[in-house]
Parts: sequence; C-alpha cells; structure tokens
Amino acid sequence: MKVSLDKSKCMVCGSCVGLCPAVFEMAGDGTIDVKKEMKDVPSKLEGDVQSAADACPATAITVEK
Ligand code: SF4
Repeated sequence: MKVSLDKSKCMVCGSCVGLCPAVFEMAGDGTIDVKKEMKDVPSKLEGDVQSAADACPATAITVEK
C-alpha cells in the first residue's frame, strides 16, 4: 500500500496523526504530511492508514493498494 496526502486539501485537523502517528506527522511548518519513510506503508500499519483516510474530513489522504 502507498499513501499520499494532498496538502492543498488538508485542514490540519490532526485526525490522521491521532489515528496513525507512526505514518502521519506535523511538519516543522505546521502542515501535516506523511513521514518520508512511510510512503510505502508497512503491512502492519495498513489498517490504521485506511482508517485515517476514511476519517479524513477533507478527503486529502489517498491510498493505493
Ligand atoms: S485527517 Fe485529513 S484534514 Fe485532518 S490533518 Fe489529516 S490529512 Fe489533514
């Protein structure tokens, strides 16, 4: 699974960071992003990433299987 985040849509609500802090983080500039090393999601985290994508109020998170 690959994950990407569209910063132009993100409302910085923090939901994805709360649901899956291993993959999503707040960057130094105050935006939310996928951690560089987590763009290819480890299989054990796929469920949490899917939950974060489903819960994103801005549909800013895209997953590819
Ligand atoms: S859940 Fe969506 S809108 Fe909220 S911080 Fe994450 S990507 Fe941004």
